[in-house]
Amino acid sequence: MAKTVITPKIRALICANAHPEGCAANVRRLIEQAREAGPGSGLGTVVVIGSSTGYGLASLVTAVWGWGATALGVCFERPAAGKRTASAGWYNIAEVHRLARQEGRHVETINGDAFSHEIKEQVVAALASRFASVDLVIYSLASPRRKDPDSEHVWSSVIKPIDTPHGGKHIELRREVVTSVDLEPATEEEIESTVKVMGGEDWELWVRRLAAEGLLAEGARAVAYSYIGPRVTHPVYRTGTIGRAKEHLEATAERLDSLLGDLVDGNAWISVNKAAVTQASAVIPAVPLYKSLLYRVMKDAGTHELPIDQMLRLFADHIGPRRTPKLDRHRRIRLDDLELDPAIQDRVRELWAEVETDNLNDISDWSGFKREFLQLFGFDVDGVDYDEPVAIERPWD
Ligand code: NAD
Repeated sequence: MAKTVITPKIRALICANAHPEGCAANVRRLIEQAREAGPGSGLGTVVVIGSSTGYGLASLVTAVWGWGATALGVCFERPAAGKRTASAGWYNIAEVHRLARQEGRHVETINGDAFSHEIKEQVVAALASRFASVDLVIYSLASPRRKDPDSEHVWSSVIKPIDTPHGGKHIELRREVVTSVDLEPATEEEIESTVKVMGGEDWELWVRRLAAEGLLAEGARAVAYSYIGPRVTHPVYRTGTIGRAKEHLEATAERLDSLLGDLVDGNAWISVNKAAVTQASAVIPAVPLYKSLLYRVMKDAGTHELPIDQMLRLFADHIGPRRTPKLDRHRRIRLDDLELDPAIQDRVRELWAEVETDNLNDISDWSGFKREFLQLFGFDVDGVDYDEPVAIERPWD
């Protein structure tokens, strides 16, 4: 197999390639952490929709290595082709499969469009033939568009405020300067389209389908991820189009909770997670600037967490076997408690007012943010020799 030296092809927080050894090293680190922190057994069968990166990958690793689960993941990743590397998520899953096989664990992945009937069909067939009934369904999709499974219409999500225009600070990523972003309010069609992509419709289709096929175990739980964040990002997030979609997702949890309660004495919950550097979230205006200030403040306070820390906490305190989640008054699990701690947010607000291009690197963790972003693609990972030529093809076991 031909080998090549891979250097990052990155522009404005979009990375066009990935490093297989760096991604594999990331996955091994997650696994070690889950192995150390989790009880090692107790969970049966888990389905993770959106399993290859970010919160979904951290959930998969926590379930399998932290809690001894067998798992079926669903993701949409690209294998290597010619000289083009695979996507980071592809390499992540290649390492997950390699280690699972080495250790005699059962992990399978279905790669394709989770919104489609065809992929749901494949998941149902795999579960029916090779897995015990499902105890936990994690929904961790983040996608810019969704092809409607019935009409073939393609819905696209937009990141815009609702009702009033918004102008606010943000980092212009190409030049790395702090400037202001001006966003016009979304149209009704754009709001509807964003809800179609990132709302609860597809989650509900998944859970109803698994229930209708009799694949859910007694007491089965379904969990989807949401975000709220601070006031400075509300116009572009929580009170904007994405927030509208998250409200829909959260309302869906109510319906699914009743459904699962009636059918299998189960539950559906939302977990509101902390702001994390992931592929999907880096493109939201204002969010990279907020995160680089937040990271600085949380690191100084010793409360910074990565997705794997959050997922270990989610399973241990809320959704693991025999755990009863602690819910807020809207029935949501709040893993964003440390992020929204008033002392943390007061300090972030002060820094937000002060931050400009000249002091960006001094008062924020912008360099840490960028490094974490690079690491998502397997670059700048400790212990990896980037001068060493590597094979870009990594088949999934
Ligand atoms: P991510 O980009 O790291 O992961 C997205 C996953 O979805 C990947 O596994 C990808 O392969 C998969 N995917 C995308 N489109 C798909 C499709 N059509 N079919 C099958 N798989 C597909 O995203 P993330 O940031 O971990 O977000 C996951 C969830 O967590 C989202 O609901 C997000 O809103 C939520 N969340 C994120 C943050 C954050 O700061 N990143 C905070 C709180 C909550």
